[in-house]
Amino acid sequence: MNVAVVLFTSDLRLHDNPVLRSALRDADRVVPLFVRDEAVHRAGFDAPNRLAFLADCLADLDAGLRKRGGRLVLRTGAVAKEVRRLVEETGAGAVHMAAGVSGYAARREERVRTALADTGCELRLHDAVVTALAPGRVVPSGKDHFAVFTPYFRRWEAAGVRGTLGAPRTVRLPDGELASDGLPARDDVKNVSPGLADGGERAGRKLMTSWLDGDMGAYADGHDDLAGDATSRLSPHLHFGTVSAAELAGRAREKGGPGGEAFVRQLAWRDFHHQVLAARHDASWSDYRPREDRWRSDEDEITAWKTGHTGYPVVDAAMRQLAHEGWMHNRGRLLAASFLTKTLYVDWRVGARHFLELLVDGDIANNQLNWQWVAGTGTDTRPNRVLNPVTQAKRYDPDGDYVRRWVPELAELEASEIHEPWKVDGLDYPEPVVDLGEARARFEKARGLD
Ligand code: FAD
Repeated sequence: MNVAVVLFTSDLRLHDNPVLRSALRDADRVVPLFVRDEAVHRAGFDAPNRLAFLADCLADLDAGLRKRGGRLVLRTGAVAKEVRRLVEETGAGAVHMAAGVSGYAARREERVRTALADTGCELRLHDAVVTALAPGRVVPSGKDHFAVFTPYFRRWEAAGVRGTLGAPRTVRLPDGELASDGLPARDDVKNVSPGLADGGERAGRKLMTSWLDGDMGAYADGHDDLAGDATSRLSPHLHFGTVSAAELAGRAREKGGPGGEAFVRQLAWRDFHHQVLAARHDASWSDYRPREDRWRSDEDEITAWKTGHTGYPVVDAAMRQLAHEGWMHNRGRLLAASFLTKTLYVDWRVGARHFLELLVDGDIANNQLNWQWVAGTGTDTRPNRVLNPVTQAKRYDPDGDYVRRWVPELAELEASEIHEPWKVDGLDYPEPVVDLGEARARFEKARGLD
């Protein structure tokens, strides 16, 4: 009996999963494994929204495997130790897993390799599982990653994404009993955002299909419209791998049109940030391009930002959407992040940590590098640009409907008033925490631009 272990990580799916397909090709019995890593728990990265979404994903993966004759084995502990234990129990000859991009993933791979060293079992890493194109697959000459998106995108497009793999028909487990912890239940997770989306591959594929067959057409013109909510909302599924980035990019490209092209470009942004982090693990918490910032830290202002009480309606709406859904529109993320790092001139790490605590798609590559991009310490080619929350609100929420949805105190205001409520008397809504002109001057002085 030839046995392989499939260690699921950020690829919680049966469709288009090169890890699972390779294991099934090479071995006649396969053990699907997920390890709840205690190190992630200790580091505080098991935020409630992601834990709840993960519970859906594991339940759905287990159901899909059972339909095919298998099941998911769940273990809790240090990943390398649990993998070795299972290899010893089953006599597996190979462990298959997706190659990751973060420092954590690299350490995990190294630990698994070391743990297997004297077992005769090999570790097989597969790339282009988490991203559409593997990090390092395209690089500028003499360098290990692209630091600017446009040339990266040109090469990304030319390289093309791999073909899509179908879901396996059967998954045969080895003979005999395999111990497994009980699957976590979404309802057991405390402090989950009330409007959190459903997780799992079935939910992800349904969303992907309706997106590709319908709403994607309007993406080119509508993706920045805050109230229109015209983006795919596939980010949590891409984060947990319940939707494959390669399959999604391939299918969106086939559909084509302005919507498809604009959408594929955003998927390339995801790969771009992943290839930066894969080459620069330190960029998760250190400045990618240090600018000698001497950040401010006013606890009252930070609390006002976190709770959606800055007095700037579009920023407050975005922060309240985050608290309610565990998700935020991209334009909202840009405005909220610019407000914190440029207007309040607070360290991007404060904001990135808060986002990671709440975002269901909270992702070390995308979150940290987007925060750095906005803060001007990352790959942005215009690091000193400051987004004005009033001008931006008038452009991207012209009727004020996004603000009305999330800031009920302002729901009765006209579109002409809603983004500048300090001009209206008698409202139960905070005064602005800072004057925009003064904040801009402070930022320019700090960056030596005055
Ligand atoms: P769509 O517009 O439908 O885009 C499709 C997919 O493309 C997204 O699901 C995402 O995977 C990718 N994508 C889109 N925009 C970007 C981008 N700017 N960078 C990288 N990938 C992108 N995205 C995350 O997935 N996780 C995060 O933790 C995260 N944190 C962010 C923090 C800040 C401060 C900012 C400005 C952006 C962040 N993003 C993050 C990127 C982006 O905001 C989200 O991916 C997007 O809003 C998700 O919604 P959607 O799936 O409807 O996106």
